[in-house]
Amino acid sequence: NYRPITGKADYMYQNATFIPLTNTMGEVSHMCIILYDVTDIAVNKKELEDLNKKLEQVSQTDSLTQLANRGHWEGTLRQEFLRIKRNGGCSTLLMFDIDHFKKVNDEYGHSCGDEALRHLSDLLRTTLRETDIAGRYGGEEFVVTLLDTDKEGASTFAERLREIIESTPVKYKHFEIKMTVSIGFAGSSNGFNNHERWIEAADKALYYSKNTGRNKVTSYSDIKNDA
Ligand code: GH3
Ligand code: MG
Ligand code: MG
Repeated sequence: NYRPITGKADYMYQNATFIPLTNTMGEVSHMCIILYDVTDIAVNKKELEDLNKKLEQVSQTDSLTQLANRGHWEGTLRQEFLRIKRNGGCSTLLMFDIDHFKKVNDEYGHSCGDEALRHLSDLLRTTLRETDIAGRYGGEEFVVTLLDTDKEGASTFAERLREIIESTPVKYKHFEIKMTVSIGFAGSSNGFNNHERWIEAADKALYYSKNTGRNKVTSYSDIKNDA
């Protein structure tokens, strides 16, 4: 090669053309090989692919907590709703909201509030199974889709999550701040017409937990007939 290979690639990327050369007898006696250096094109293409992957990932992720953002999470819930409609089975949607979170911001400042949200997201991550899909639905409101999980399984998960959050305070400077969450969940077996109704049901159960004392878990199926 006439050019040093620098920087971005360890090897030269090449396009190669092989042309057989025949002699007067019609036999192939030589081979003409033309090599084109396409390193720049190959490296640019790879960089573009990597960048697109990163862009896709960033567009689906909440930057504070690294959980799925609302748009992406809702897309996965819709997929799950359609899958169940096609194949049957039961999955459960769980929603939770931090109790009196405004106080954390008011008493310790907004960056402490941010740290608390990260802390809670880490706790959530340790509680999840590989197939569960967790997202940040809004400010201090979170969602988890528990795949192939019925009421009993969801109830156990929710109670474990509630307890671990209650018993693991967030450390900020020299403070230890306790938080609790109110949780609501709704199983797909309640027969919703679409995934939006499913979200509304979990939300209703969550607000039931809020209105009846906070720091507790409510199943939609237990309250759906309440006004
Ligand atoms: P409740 O028990 O009824 O849920 O009370 P609450 O104080 O948690 O609820 P409220 O809706 O009154 O307040 C939510 C607070 O969450 C207010 C807002 O400043 C805070 N918040 C939302 N998103 C963020 C965020 O990204 N960072 C921080 N630090 N605070 C946030
Ligand atoms: Mg709240
Ligand atoms: Mg809220």
